[in-house]
Amino acid sequence: MRKLQLLLFFLATIAATCQGLDEVDHGRNYNIYPLRLKSGSGGHHIPGLTCSSWRLGVETHNIIEWITVPEECEGYVGNYMLGHQYREDSEAVTIHAFRYAKSLNLTGDGKDTWVFDIDETTLSNLPYYAKHGFGVNAYNSTSFNEWVNLGVAPALPSSLKLYWKLLNLGIKIVFLTGRPEDQTNITVANLRNVRFTKWEKLILKDSSFSGKTAVVYKSTQRKKLEDEGYRIVGNIGDQWSDILGTNTGNRTFKLPDPMYYLS
Ligand SMILES: [Mg+2]
Repeated sequence: MRKLQLLLFFLATIAATCQGLDEVDHGRNYNIYPLRLKSGSGGHHIPGLTCSSWRLGVETHNIIEWITVPEECEGYVGNYMLGHQYREDSEAVTIHAFRYAKSLNLTGDGKDTWVFDIDETTLSNLPYYAKHGFGVNAYNSTSFNEWVNLGVAPALPSSLKLYWKLLNLGIKIVFLTGRPEDQTNITVANLRNVRFTKWEKLILKDSSFSGKTAVVYKSTQRKKLEDEGYRIVGNIGDQWSDILGTNTGNRTFKLPDPMYYLS
């Protein structure tokens, strides 16, 4: 009798859940129970859910100063980066960046500039990270620089589109990157190979900034630009350190990057 009661209760629960999901699917009534955390049979969180919360925390800068992607999130981050979502999230950023740019009253005096970061903003190192655990492995400067020195990083498609649209509006482009100055030639060649062919300035990190944070380095360089009379109308990067600090520009845009964190 007890077993029968349990079976009836179980069937009733399934029926109620299915009905609830059905209602959500039809967009009519949003019941609270489909919003419960998904859990496995033992009550363990499905790994993807934990990792998606981790990614949100990273992108909103609630999770900071992290060294590597959590090991259990390698598959999640890999799927995100290689799948359509990364591209769609990037496109959402650049579409809004261009809407903003179009709304500006540009002076046409050649001083309106847009600052682009390079790695994971202009050029993608995804082919490298795909072979190195999508950020699970600790940063290795030797192997990363070997990759950079190949000069074969592809363009981020949505950033390339934004770049050309901004140029067509008459906005000057400044590339501001944490890459060291000895990578100037290969960076120029790589940019040109993937159709980033014009810029007002290309600023790489000189040795006087060694040991300084990206926030300090980039703020200093942006201040120099403004001291030279440039107006930074927009600023786009994949790291919070690209868009924090001083002289950040009139508007900043953050591209997704759940693979590494630079302060
Ligand atoms: Mg970057």
